Amino acid sequence: MSRILIIEDETSIAELERDYLVLSGFEVECEVDGNRGLERVLGEEFDLVILDLMLPGMDGFEVCRRIREQKNLPIIMVSAKKEDIDKIRGLGLGADDYMTKPFSPSELVARVKAHLARYDRLVNAGVHANDIIQIRGLKIDKTARRVWVDGEEKILTTKEFDLLSFLAQNPNRVFRKEELFREIWEMESIGDIATVTVHIKKIREKIEKHDTDKHQYIETIWGVGYRFKL
Ligand code: CA
Repeated sequence: MSRILIIEDETSIAELERDYLVLSGFEVECEVDGNRGLERVLGEEFDLVILDLMLPGMDGFEVCRRIREQKNLPIIMVSAKKEDIDKIRGLGLGADDYMTKPFSPSELVARVKAHLARYDRLVNAGVHANDIIQIRGLKIDKTARRVWVDGEEKILTTKEFDLLSFLAQNPNRVFRKEELFREIWEMESIGDIATVTVHIKKIREKIEKHDTDKHQYIETIWGVGYRFKL
């Protein structure tokens, strides 16, 4: 049974979410405070987190960032303000999905199921297919979801990792930004292809050499998109 943590300070909302998720067969725990929520995510085994943005203690931005430093599990961020959602997206904190309150509980359940299934697929794909991709100095462990460049580990957010491993698994093929967006952000109803550009930039900062303008791994094909160089 999948275990979900809801970090939400409005108890009526948390209870509504919990009731629907429990009815759908999930085990659900709730926390109202950001610090305590983070502590539980890091200290226990959860399969997914539903994270409110404005929280007492540590806010949702920081909680998300800290979870991502240590764990790979789906994070769905929720906020009452559309502007906040846009802001979080722009920050690239590594949340998997964003929802604006109020939303229908059935929509939440659908997204939770979709994200759990997607993570399962990614993990299983890693086990059955070729787990390790090694191209020049870059090594990607798809099962452990870890990346090294010249032996040094680089910490990537979930989406950065998904995007990099997708490109590296399909080397030399040029992908349009739209294609990459569909492939990696399939579950999200909001967003645009600029997200792809932002994530490519972040990946490059982490894996490319900085003493040259020429990219070693991810090449920009002007007017078209990107290609992972083999
Ligand atoms: Ca709140």
